[in-house]
Amino acid sequence: FNALPPVNEPVKEYRPGSSEREALKKALAEFRSQETDIPMYIGGQEVRTENKLRISPPHDHQHTLGYFHEGDASHVKQAIEAALSAKEAWANLAWEHRASIFLKAADLIAGPYRARINAATMLGQSKNAYQAEIDSACELIDFLRFNVQFASDIYKQQPNSSPGVWNRLEYRPLEGFVFALTPFNFTAIAGNLPTSAALMGNTVVWKPAYTQVLSANVIMEALNEAGLPDGVINLIYVDGPIAGDVIFKHPDFAGIHFTGSTKVFQTIWSEIGANINAYKTYPRIVGETGGKDFVMVHESADADEVATGLVRGAFEYQGQKCSAASRAYVPSTLWPAVEARMKLFLSQIKMGAVEDFTNFVNAVIDERSFKKITAYIDKAQKSEKVTVIAGGNYDGSKGYFVEPTVLLVNDPAYRTMCEEIFGPVLSIYVYEPSAFEDMLHVVDTTSPYALTGSIFAKDRQVIEHVSKTLQNAAGNFYINDKPTGAVVGQQPFGGARASGTNDKAGSALNLYRWVSARTIKETY
Ligand code: GLU
Repeated sequence: FNALPPVNEPVKEYRPGSSEREALKKALAEFRSQETDIPMYIGGQEVRTENKLRISPPHDHQHTLGYFHEGDASHVKQAIEAALSAKEAWANLAWEHRASIFLKAADLIAGPYRARINAATMLGQSKNAYQAEIDSACELIDFLRFNVQFASDIYKQQPNSSPGVWNRLEYRPLEGFVFALTPFNFTAIAGNLPTSAALMGNTVVWKPAYTQVLSANVIMEALNEAGLPDGVINLIYVDGPIAGDVIFKHPDFAGIHFTGSTKVFQTIWSEIGANINAYKTYPRIVGETGGKDFVMVHESADADEVATGLVRGAFEYQGQKCSAASRAYVPSTLWPAVEARMKLFLSQIKMGAVEDFTNFVNAVIDERSFKKITAYIDKAQKSEKVTVIAGGNYDGSKGYFVEPTVLLVNDPAYRTMCEEIFGPVLSIYVYEPSAFEDMLHVVDTTSPYALTGSIFAKDRQVIEHVSKTLQNAAGNFYINDKPTGAVVGQQPFGGARASGTNDKAGSALNLYRWVSARTIKETY
């Protein structure tokens, strides 16, 4: 099997008047004008229940986009049964045949499904057209195509043999089923977590976030059209604790592929530990969780680049990326220039509904998130440790809108410098250049996370020093760039400490977790 090395899917620009823009507008209008009815998919069957939950755009929460059918514990059991029944045939299929289904799904998303999946992501998750395009189109397509390449590399790796002895490694899937628990903030991640495990021969129970259902359904439609056999991926909408209670007690539970909050991941880990005697095999626990991602600025940095990195890193998709820049350390010598540039950029940014393509900022995902973020802002406004230098306003009446907010903080241990907020709030601490070394210590120790981080500097000695000093502080470390926007095949993504198991999404390192190899020695 000699696959052509995949290339990253080019980002479409949706310029006014372009055919892609017209197609996207049409798809948006279609989702807006109809009420989509979204079933679960168990064993290839569409499953509907009496319990229909409403889907609305976060930027227009009174509007109804449709309904999805919520299941209960019995549906979780059915999904597990369906995954287990589909397992043998799927695992025995030559891997190239599994791969071809995901390659076809990638082509469908790149072509006929592109407008629909982007429109679903824009409306359901309040992403602007560019943020949707780089996520639900390009990154998802890249995951599907590059994973095939990584799998091909894995399957090719074989041990040495010697005269009279022939050794092989058989890359078996895990024994049992895999549970994919996926987040709202990236449609690509929601698509990658079940499909990467499935590519390696596993069958999956997939539970997306309730705030990503519209685009999850489009992913499932594309996989079905690509020929995914019944029961390989079973998509259920069931309350987390109810689903977890069935799944984590099941003897055939073989692994979880998770992206979400640190707290939920820790709870899951404990539940798995508490049930460890129930399982046939040690479950693989793979998770990407929270972040408190830093931007460290040195005196030698370019103020313009820093300001651009901060505004884009902190406020694209309303800061709802695990990788978002949320704390920055700027030397006092550079601060006036950085502040002026940031204020200029922020004054040019518009906030509003996704249907107006000139809006850079849209709404945060839901009321719960809105309340959490605005509580941080309210407290910061009252604190003598903080000066709000931009934003600070919010309005949840029509949509969950929070202005991009910049807090100048005079204590690097203040809560907004240490805790994950998951919203458009950037905290900045201005330090005296002589305290640079102390600042590195602060960066390394004031938050429990280690997902992404950036150093802005022109001085090579400084870059090397920071890179070494902060070697455990970020799984993705950026030099003179914002800490967001990892590209599949270019920057494998993930972090350690409280940010997860660092099993780098978008690389072979991740796919290795979904196989349980058998060594075979034959003498002849
Ligand atoms: N991979 C994304 C990035 O590099 C972040 C993923 C996440 O938020 O979970 O920005």
